[in-house]
Amino acid sequence: AVLGIGLFTLMFSAFSLANGGKTKRIFIFGIFIVFLALHNLFSAPYAYTTFLNLSWSWGIRLEYLFSFLAILFFLSYMFLLSSRYLHRWVYSAAMLLLSFNIGVTLWAEPTIFQQLAFYSSFFFVLILANFAYGFYQTLRSGEDYSKINFWAVIILCGTFIHDFLLMLNLVNSIHLSFISTSVYALLIMFQQARNYAYHNLRIERLNQKLIHLNSSLDLKVQERTEQLSLLNEKLEIQIKTDALTGAYNRRALNEEIQRLYFETLQNKRHILVFAMLDVDYFKKYNDHYGHLKGDQILQNLVKVLQDTLPKNAFVARYGGEEFAILLHDIPQPAIAPLMQKVLQAVRDAAFEHVAREDHKQYVTLSIGVAWMTRAQAYTHVDDFMKAADAHLYQAKHAGRDQVVIQT
Ligand code: GH3
Ligand code: MG
Ligand code: MG
Repeated sequence: AVLGIGLFTLMFSAFSLANGGKTKRIFIFGIFIVFLALHNLFSAPYAYTTFLNLSWSWGIRLEYLFSFLAILFFLSYMFLLSSRYLHRWVYSAAMLLLSFNIGVTLWAEPTIFQQLAFYSSFFFVLILANFAYGFYQTLRSGEDYSKINFWAVIILCGTFIHDFLLMLNLVNSIHLSFISTSVYALLIMFQQARNYAYHNLRIERLNQKLIHLNSSLDLKVQERTEQLSLLNEKLEIQIKTDALTGAYNRRALNEEIQRLYFETLQNKRHILVFAMLDVDYFKKYNDHYGHLKGDQILQNLVKVLQDTLPKNAFVARYGGEEFAILLHDIPQPAIAPLMQKVLQAVRDAAFEHVAREDHKQYVTLSIGVAWMTRAQAYTHVDDFMKAADAHLYQAKHAGRDQVVIQT
C-alpha cells in the first residue's frame, strides 16, 4: 500500500509537470515514500521471506541504504516545504553525512557501516531541534498549515526516536517506525483524496461560472458593437453634413464630385451636371433683417431645393450663401427646365426681401451650370467647377434671378 501511494505521488507529479505545473516538492515526496516502502520491505525478516537467496549482509545493507535514501528525501521534502524546518547549513551537513554513510554502506562490512550509522544518528538531535523550532514558528505565526501533515511528522519523529532508543537497548518494546510510516502514508492518502475531491469540485464550479460569464460577455459585446456602429453611422453623417442647413458640406461635395467625375470619365455615368447657386443681394438681406433671419433663409432655401430636385440630386452648401447641386442621371436637354423649376420654386416661396437694389421684393437665386460627358470632358475636376462658377458670374451680371448653362 505504501509503495502504491509512492508510485501514485510520482506519477501525479509527472503528469502535473507535463501540464506545466510546479511539482518538485511532490516529486521528492513521492521518492521518499517509495524508499520508505522499500525500507519497510527490507526490514528483517520480510526481505528473507520474499527474496529467498538474499545473503544476510546484503539484506542488512539494503535495509540501511533504503533508510538513508528515505531520510535523504524526507529531509529534502521538509527543506523544500520551508527553510524554517531545516536551516540551509543543517540541511547541507545532513546531506553530506548521509552521502558519506551511503558510500561506506556500499563498500564496507556491516559491522563498520552499522557503527557509522549509530554515531551519525546523533546528528538527528540537531535536525529534531530544528524541526521543533520550525514548528514552533509556524504555530506562532498563525499561518495556514496542514494539521494532518503536522501531527503525522511529529508522530513519525517520535517513533524514530523510540526505535533509536530501542536499538540502544534503552527501552524494552517493539519497532514502531514500520507502523508509523504506514499510518503516515495512510494519512497522506486521506489528505490527498480530500484535497483532490475539493479541488475537482471547485474547478467544476469555476468552469460553470466561466461558461455563464462568457455567454453574458458575448451578449454585452454584441450590444456594445451595435451601439458603436450606430454611433459611427451618426458620426459619418455628421462629418458630411452642414450644421446650419442639414445639406451636405463642402468636404462631402469635394468627395462626391471627385467620385462622379472619375466615374463619368470611365463611362459609368452618362453625364455629370454641376450647378453653383448664389443668393441674390444677400448682404443687403442681412443688413436689413439681421443675420439670424438670414440664417433662417438659408435653411428654408435648402428645403425648397430638396423638395424641388429629384431624390438622388446631391445638394451641398458650398460656403456662405452659396450652394451646389450634383446631378448624374438626367438627359442634357432636361437640365435647363429643371433649373428654371428651381428658380421658380424659390420665387414661389416668396421669402420677403425688400432691401434689394432691383424692383423685386422677394429672395431669388442666380445659378451657373456646367456639365460634362466622357466625350466632352474637363481635364481636371477644378476646371469643371470653375466653369460653373464662371456661368454663375454671368448670371449675376445679366441681372440675377436666372440661370446660365454651358452650351
Ligand atoms: P450678390 O447678389 O452679388 O451675390 O450679392 P450678395 O450681397 O449676396 O453678395 P455676396 O454673394 O458676396 O454675399 C455674401 C454675403 O452673404 C455676406 C454675408 O453677409 C452673407 N453670408 C455669408 N454666409 C452667411 C451665413 O452663414 N449666414 C448669414 N446670415 N449670412 C451669410
Ligand atoms: Mg456669394
Ligand atoms: Mg450673393
